[in-house]
Amino acid sequence: MNTRSKVIIVPCNTYDKETVFRAVKAGVLALGGIGSFIRHEERILVKPNYLSAADPDKAVTTHPAVIEAVLRLLSEYGCADLSCGDSPGHGKGEAVAARLGLGETFRALGVREAEMNEEVLTDYPEGKTAKSFYFAKEVTRADAIVNVCKMKTHALERITGAVKNVYGFICGMRKAAGHVTYPNPNVFARMLADIHRKTDIRLHVMDGIVAMEGNGPGSGDPVPMNVLLFSADPVALDATFCRLVNLDPRLVPTCEQGQLLGIGRHEEADIELLLAEPGEGGAEPSVTAVTAAELVSRFGNPAFNVDRRPGMNGGKWGRRIGILNHVTKRPYIDKKACVKCGVCVSHCPVPGKAVDFRKGKDQPPVYDYSRCIRCFCCQEMCPKHAIHVRGI
Ligand code: SF4
Ligand code: SF4
Repeated sequence: MNTRSKVIIVPCNTYDKETVFRAVKAGVLALGGIGSFIRHEERILVKPNYLSAADPDKAVTTHPAVIEAVLRLLSEYGCADLSCGDSPGHGKGEAVAARLGLGETFRALGVREAEMNEEVLTDYPEGKTAKSFYFAKEVTRADAIVNVCKMKTHALERITGAVKNVYGFICGMRKAAGHVTYPNPNVFARMLADIHRKTDIRLHVMDGIVAMEGNGPGSGDPVPMNVLLFSADPVALDATFCRLVNLDPRLVPTCEQGQLLGIGRHEEADIELLLAEPGEGGAEPSVTAVTAAELVSRFGNPAFNVDRRPGMNGGKWGRRIGILNHVTKRPYIDKKACVKCGVCVSHCPVPGKAVDFRKGKDQPPVYDYSRCIRCFCCQEMCPKHAIHVRGI
């Protein structure tokens, strides 16, 4: 590739709907306008992050103000076949949409709630790592997809952003099984890159107005980052998130493997950063080229709580996991917070369960680290934020 990947950064410190809409409009205009990505006669799927039915202020999901702004932009452009949805790992997307209060948005804009529960086996012989997927039917019927992801930490991949968000194309409980098929962070990231290669995702928008740090993607802490990011390159977008939080993108499997598989670029020299500020009264946004250092000095949060430890992405560590089971990064349960609901047990994908009610159902589940593949599905899905990660 000769030209650099563009990433647009729009400052935004509120979820006020009109302000967010002006910011989204400015970001997309700075990237060339919605018409450079989408034709209005196409079937468009907008794919937010619906991890679980949590309050929008918890930063677990893409904020509804950002989802609405993207839908409104597409609707005003003239897209008549618009759907919106995601397949969460636990529960139904409809329940998450209801919790986010999106029903009225969908009605007002004529958006169809995407049916993400019916799956279609989709062969992909050209896949570098994955040769087939069980995609939600809605993904297969869409002509184009707009990925509206959330800026969050992630126990398996360090961060979840544009690259990781596409795992929601896979239906519900299939997701846990995918961690057995792709059992370490690098292989899993390569499978995600194959999803990007197979599907037609035209535009990536990241909600970083309030991000999640710490025990993400479901149990971390909200932290204002005051930005929205836009790109056609999911790797460049995620790498910009990394730079804002003082994390080397080369440590992030979805960036490193994504670049290796050709879905984007994470190196600073390959990314053109443009700061866009909405114009007054509907005027064109002002767009200024910035360096990564300038961006970080204005919006960066070097203390952002994310895993910056080197070299734990699988590879030799993955191969040695058998002898390092009790020192490597691993989930553990805060017994005081656990309500013994069994969600972690039901989501553990390994045969024989690596976390189970080994002391009876009146006690919190217990880990068998010799079985555990460190997929962190249990940590991601615990509804009480009782599962944390420790180790080197
Ligand atoms: S999902 Fe969380 S609350 Fe439920 S049993 Fe597991 S650790 Fe306890
Ligand atoms: S115990 Fe948790 S981290 Fe380990 S394999 Fe099961 S779900 Fe994955």
